[in-house]
Amino acid sequence: KTSYICLVDYLDSDIKYVSGVGEVRAKLLERELGIRTLGDMLRHFPFRYIDRTRIYRIAEITDGAGLAYVQFRARVTGVGYAGEGRRRRFTAYVQDPSGSAELVWFQGIKWIEKRVEVGREYLVFGRPSFYRGTLSMAHPELETMEQALSRKAESGMQGIYPSTEKLSNQLGTKGMYQIVCNLWRLVRDRISDPLPESLRTQYGLIPLREAFYNIHFPQSQELLRQAQYRLKFDELLGVQLNVQSRRTARLAKSDGFLFPKVGEAFNTFYNRKLPFPLTGAQKRVVREIRQDTVTGFQMNRLLQGDVGSGKTLVALLSMLLAVDNGFQACMMAPTEILARQHFATITRMLDGMPVRVAVLTGASKAAECRAALEGIASGEVSILIGTHALIEDRVRFANLGLVVIDEQHRFGVEQRARLWTKNAQPPHILVMTATPIPRTLAMTLYGDLDVSVIDELPPGRRPIRTFHYTDAARLKLFGFMRQQIRQGRQVYVVYPLIKESEAMDYKDLTDGYEAISRDFPLPEYVTAICHGKMKPADKEESMRQFKEGEAQILVATSVIEVGVDVPNATVMVIESAERFGLSQLHQLRGRVGRGGEQSYCILMTGEKLSREARARLDAMCETNDGFRLAELDLKLRGAGDINGTLQSGMAFDLKIANPTADVQILTVSREAAVGLLEADPQLAHPGHEGLRELRSRYAGRDGIDFSRIS
Ligand code: ADP
Ligand code: MG
Repeated sequence: KTSYICLVDYLDSDIKYVSGVGEVRAKLLERELGIRTLGDMLRHFPFRYIDRTRIYRIAEITDGAGLAYVQFRARVTGVGYAGEGRRRRFTAYVQDPSGSAELVWFQGIKWIEKRVEVGREYLVFGRPSFYRGTLSMAHPELETMEQALSRKAESGMQGIYPSTEKLSNQLGTKGMYQIVCNLWRLVRDRISDPLPESLRTQYGLIPLREAFYNIHFPQSQELLRQAQYRLKFDELLGVQLNVQSRRTARLAKSDGFLFPKVGEAFNTFYNRKLPFPLTGAQKRVVREIRQDTVTGFQMNRLLQGDVGSGKTLVALLSMLLAVDNGFQACMMAPTEILARQHFATITRMLDGMPVRVAVLTGASKAAECRAALEGIASGEVSILIGTHALIEDRVRFANLGLVVIDEQHRFGVEQRARLWTKNAQPPHILVMTATPIPRTLAMTLYGDLDVSVIDELPPGRRPIRTFHYTDAARLKLFGFMRQQIRQGRQVYVVYPLIKESEAMDYKDLTDGYEAISRDFPLPEYVTAICHGKMKPADKEESMRQFKEGEAQILVATSVIEVGVDVPNATVMVIESAERFGLSQLHQLRGRVGRGGEQSYCILMTGEKLSREARARLDAMCETNDGFRLAELDLKLRGAGDINGTLQSGMAFDLKIANPTADVQILTVSREAAVGLLEADPQLAHPGHEGLRELRSRYAGRDGIDFSRIS
């Protein structure tokens, strides 16, 4: 036990004492990478390795092999030049007995062309990429075989560490590597293992010390793999120990509000106001929510359903349940437009019923604001709908029983957390998302929760037909829009808006708006515009015009991406579609196909497209299935990138494990956590000190108590 405590203390020492660091670099490391202690540095893992240990054959280097840097031995069979001026490039064609490859230079052509001799054999080292299935390497290192053989053989794989621009000016790849070497000499004898031996054996895990050693200095590809496995396992086990402990605590507490009654509000709405019968899936989810709220446990439920599956109605029914039992409910949406739309829909649906609904957003005028705040505090308002404004301190509920969060991935962890601290006793929580993820994964990302799925679209929906047009087909597009509008339909035209190119993007948008207004000179075709820079009142007016059918065309930025619901709109035109991610494209497409009419999504791009962009557009044209697109997105973007995207909404800070990619490790770590906690719920047994420490390390971000977070 003592040795374990001692280890913790030692790894907490300041990084500045490691030779090669010092005061200045220590400050920089902390500011740029959050590295303050020896332990932080030890957990700063390479994201890539240079493997000089083996010489590959060209045929072995394939797209799917996931090799970062490789070397191979090949003979130059010819050279060529292409392009003009700045686009000029020099290519060397090479071959080994297994296949051929291309080496390309865009710079330093004068220097390299003198050194490449046709007919000669070289050792080529670089980053593989693939063009139409052919291996190609840009700016590889070249050595003649004589040079290569005379050089001392490199001992192993060298790690390349994540860095930032500022930091790498002060501390390059080699410098960072050197510091890690020095660090290792200090800490190598002070690493003890938090996992009991029996657990390591059971799950085939190498000791922690060896894992750290091989993640920084891999002795072979296999040991590297085992090191990564062990470290990922520890992280995910740490998370699972938290999630499972909290779950047990939540279900043991039984301090949840009781909604035993299905009363006036629910029944009136259900029997008289419901505009259409619920789908089987909607019914099932409402039943699940009802079951949750009569048990005495606090509900923590994630509702997944593809765009257009009818989540709003489920939310409304749940809120009415709360109202029937004397509680208030609130619903938070990520954008002003969406909050206003929910307010309008719900007010309309509840028309004539004695349930008061209020709205509160950042743009609320003084009177609206006062009405909402006073009504909520006094208890006269039963349902409050709004944006982030709901989490402000001045919003005080009389008796909040249910919180609904729409499109939860749009909110950060902290924002979500602040809503349920509004009551002394935690309200029931329903978070809704169109992103389908498996339950174990959801729990790892968001904490302890239950999952409901709407896996059925309302009847009569026809699959949206998606097409990819280039600019050359613009006249055809306008013709198509005109034809749809003549049939009484409405059209969205969406432009990308990205912070970095904001000025230009706004110009594209307004140019597009003017062009469309010109191309539709008939007086009955009204075009509305909607973007983030407009005054809230003007935005609202544009949306109103479009919703009520006064405007046939809505030109907008992706502010309309989530949730907007105008069933009569049947055409979604996405300009510069190559600039959107796959999930964003799918969300945008989900704005149409909401009524019974055939709907269309037209993806507009220029002629030239990157391979990834083309793959995204092809996928969109091929399928409407959100689940398949989410999977494909993972594949296209690569595991590393997704971690970053999910990070902001994620409850736990993971360094190496990627819960979306490491599903297998996730599953076994969960099983391990459940087993450990069954035998020792408090992790108080001797030999479990390390597990306790692991659990507190992954207790959640920024010291927030996540026990109530979904
Ligand atoms: P999302 O799950 O994307 O939030 P919405 O709740 O906005 O979907 O619903 C999409 C559209 O489907 C809305 O126009 C809604 O009125 C309609 N809808 C919802 N449930 C049903 C149903 N059971 N039958 C027919 N239409 C429905
Ligand atoms: Mg929605």
